[in-house]
Amino acid sequence: NKITIAIDGFSSTGKSTIAKLLAKSLNYIYVDTGAMYRAVTYFALENNFISDKFFNEEELIARLGDIRITFKFNEILGFAEVYLNGKNIEGDIRTLKVSKFVSPVATLSEVRRKLVEQQQLMGKDKGVVMDGRDIGTVVFPDAELKIFMTASAETRAKRRYKELLERGHNLSYEDVLENVTTRDHIDSTREDSPLVKAEDAIAIDNSNLTISEQLDRLIGLANK
Ligand code: C5P
Repeated sequence: NKITIAIDGFSSTGKSTIAKLLAKSLNYIYVDTGAMYRAVTYFALENNFISDKFFNEEELIARLGDIRITFKFNEILGFAEVYLNGKNIEGDIRTLKVSKFVSPVATLSEVRRKLVEQQQLMGKDKGVVMDGRDIGTVVFPDAELKIFMTASAETRAKRRYKELLERGHNLSYEDVLENVTTRDHIDSTREDSPLVKAEDAIAIDNSNLTISEQLDRLIGLANK
């Protein structure tokens, strides 16, 4: 019996790493909802609706109908890449620039409504692992398994920093730490669908857990 698995938590808690592996071992679909908010942010940056100095929310909201987000499985990478209006933007959305503007964009109710609707459609047949900030609370409040991932801010920033360096980005650890903590703050204090642990979510602090330990634990929970 296939179920819906919601994995929420703060930035860089390793949600997507574990969600991908879990989906693979259960033969489920994996949906990275953060990539969808990042895609909208990328669109906003491309169209000059947002910068350090301004955020033209009305313009972005008026153009939401022009944003088509799709995922396509990449056999070589082993996961689905995100596309914006047919263009592969997987490599463009993990930059610190997009990371900097994504949380303000994600505060907009119009943006959330559009993306939540698409996420609910993508997961309607069960057999899905979805990660984000509001999956267990808003997108799939009836999910059979809800996980809330946590890890210390330093652990998270270190992981993110390492990941960005490996991707060839040139930045400082302090910038990454600052981005992670700022996003957490905006995400958990926004009015629409703030990041909170669903009451029935199982909290897992993975600061001291290996990936295979986490995976074993999640597979065990999914098969219960
Ligand atoms: O998961 P990721 O770090 O890629 O998410 C980027 C940002 O997208 C988050 O910091 C948050 O502002 C937003 N987000 C959200 N709701 C989700 C997934 C992501 O608000 N379900």
